Amino acid sequence: MTTKYALVTGGSRGIGRAVCVKLAQMGYDILINYTSNTAEAEKTLALVREAGQQGELLKFDVSNRAETRAALEAWGEAHPDDYIEVLVNNAGIRRDNILALMPESDWERVLDITLGGFYNVTQPLLQPMMFHKFGRIINMASISGLKGMPGQTNYSAAKGGIIAATKALAQEVARKNVTVNAVAPGFIRTDMVEGLDEAALKKTIPANRFGKPEEVAELVGFLVSPAASYITGNVISISGGLYT
Ligand code: NAP
Repeated sequence: MTTKYALVTGGSRGIGRAVCVKLAQMGYDILINYTSNTAEAEKTLALVREAGQQGELLKFDVSNRAETRAALEAWGEAHPDDYIEVLVNNAGIRRDNILALMPESDWERVLDITLGGFYNVTQPLLQPMMFHKFGRIINMASISGLKGMPGQTNYSAAKGGIIAATKALAQEVARKNVTVNAVAPGFIRTDMVEGLDEAALKKTIPANRFGKPEEVAELVGFLVSPAASYITGNVISISGGLYT
């Protein structure tokens, strides 16, 4: 049986880690990308192995085009007969501030990682997916990209851009059996929401709680599965009813 590979950007922690585990449970070998946190990435790798699959760490900053290309090319050279059939563009950061006070570095960093990272990682993986006539691309967006959140103009712009890119790319590659979808989480309990007032915020959520990374991973797993083969160009919210 040939090995099937999935690449999860930002796989060291949070939602990305849960997605790595879910895809491993579905029989994928996992390429775990991260940028700095090797200890956490190693923990994800151990969980992937516990799920019965192989994994490898791919350390690169998705916003750095040269570094990203070099890492993907090196992987391709080491695996001449394989290709990455599932890509989860999950790496992301937030740098919140009202726009009037936002330094340009915070504007640029958020867009560079989310939108630049989408281009840098996705573009080189498309040809092999189309050649093999199978691929699954899942982009981690956010409710902020649908609704627009005050204090998150940079993040909302980046996530809104990812949603539009998802819809455009889906139409380019659908004939080749490559689906492209976005997932838009609300508040999910990870390091990213550390410091937020959960008790106050959960009152704004109809389900009255933050979500779990594993709940997002289940949705990603469904979109990767054969059952979702006719779903493409969509953005699916997972938010406990927040902004429906
Ligand atoms: P998290 O716990 O902060 O984890 C972020 C992950 O992204 C880490 O693995 C981190 O790697 C990686 N990363 C950050 N910058 C990177 C870069 N330049 N290159 C490669 N990897 C990078 O975040 P999370 O909550 O799981 O969020 C995952 C995704 O879901 C993000 O796109 C986020 O915007 C989105 N999202 C989250 C929520 C939420 O409530 N948590 C809601 C909506 C959307 P290191 O460990 O090496 O730092």
